Amino acid sequence: MTVYNFCAGPAMLPPEVMKKAQAEFLNWQGLGVSVMEVSHRAKPFLAMVEECEASLRRLMNISDDFEVLFMHGGGRGQFAAVPLNLHQNDAPGFYIENGIWSSGATKEGAKFTDVASLNIRCDEQSTFDIQPVNDWQLPEKASFIHYCPNETIDGIEIFDVPKHQSAPIVADMSSMILSREINVDEFDLIYAGAQKNIGPSGLCIVIVRKTLLERDGLPRPAILDYAIEAKQGSMYNTPPTFAWYLAAEVFSYLEAQGGVPAMEAHNKEKAALLYNYIDSSDFYSNKVAAHCRSLMNVPFWLQDDDLNAAFLAQAEAAGLVALEGHRFVGGMRASIYNAMPIEGIKALIAFMDKFAKEHS
Ligand SMILES: *Cc1c(COP(=O)(O)O)cnc(C)c1O
Repeated sequence: MTVYNFCAGPAMLPPEVMKKAQAEFLNWQGLGVSVMEVSHRAKPFLAMVEECEASLRRLMNISDDFEVLFMHGGGRGQFAAVPLNLHQNDAPGFYIENGIWSSGATKEGAKFTDVASLNIRCDEQSTFDIQPVNDWQLPEKASFIHYCPNETIDGIEIFDVPKHQSAPIVADMSSMILSREINVDEFDLIYAGAQKNIGPSGLCIVIVRKTLLERDGLPRPAILDYAIEAKQGSMYNTPPTFAWYLAAEVFSYLEAQGGVPAMEAHNKEKAALLYNYIDSSDFYSNKVAAHCRSLMNVPFWLQDDDLNAAFLAQAEAAGLVALEGHRFVGGMRASIYNAMPIEGIKALIAFMDKFAKEHS
């Protein structure tokens, strides 16, 4: 039976990449040992990381104005690293809040620096909604403006990019990096935990404008220091080498598939199929306003919560796994990252339709 894995993270990875990794698991590049067993300073590993960065730069069109760092500590590590590195006296860290992850970033930031936040949610009755970017009231002065373009749990995506005349724009792209085209130049710092669209958990990609490395920030652990990591080629300490290797394989696979434009077309097609089905059904609903529906995480609710357990059990039996919604919002959630094929969406819809007919 084909299993389709809708887990929000760690999420499914492209089967082609997993098979390649398996084939070279014990013997990487003919060395007779695994990539996990070689020095991160050995030539083959250094060549791999160089190509990995070049590949990501091609995929995202990242200019030389930016450093690309491969750090530890996932997305949440950056919740601390951002204020520690970017803090400036007399200017708060400014956080846009519209869901569970962006609020988490605010709370962590408040441990280290003055923070101010703006709640952009404007839910109505049973609809989740947000203010459009143009309506956000941003302060004149801030150490940075932090926001989360895709709220993984709430299923809310922000497609426009905020602008500010002086404060750097920081984006937590953990659950949407490489899923659609963005203009990196509109940002000053992008970070993304790897376990949704890139590779194994633990690794975090940081794309940071070089001028920001000159900030003093606050005293901080060296492993969270952007300037040190940039200077050391992300090897201040032993990096998560296997995760880095797998990320390189995913990037190379994405390039072969036609890069981010191809992913975007594929993701839009998948999301449209699923949302259209949900909207056409009286049995299921999605509460997110149409303009901010996530292309990556599709929460949906059954008419009757008492059927949730049966839905999940029967879905699993049909090979559709990890559909349970986050405990904070309930219901179901289908995470449909780059690696999810359109066949997975079709199988999910067929199952949902069958279940609805049997229970209405
Ligand atoms: C998954 C996720 C994170 C957390 O990443 P960790 O690697 O678990 O720290 C942060 N932000 C967003 C938007 C996420 O989806």
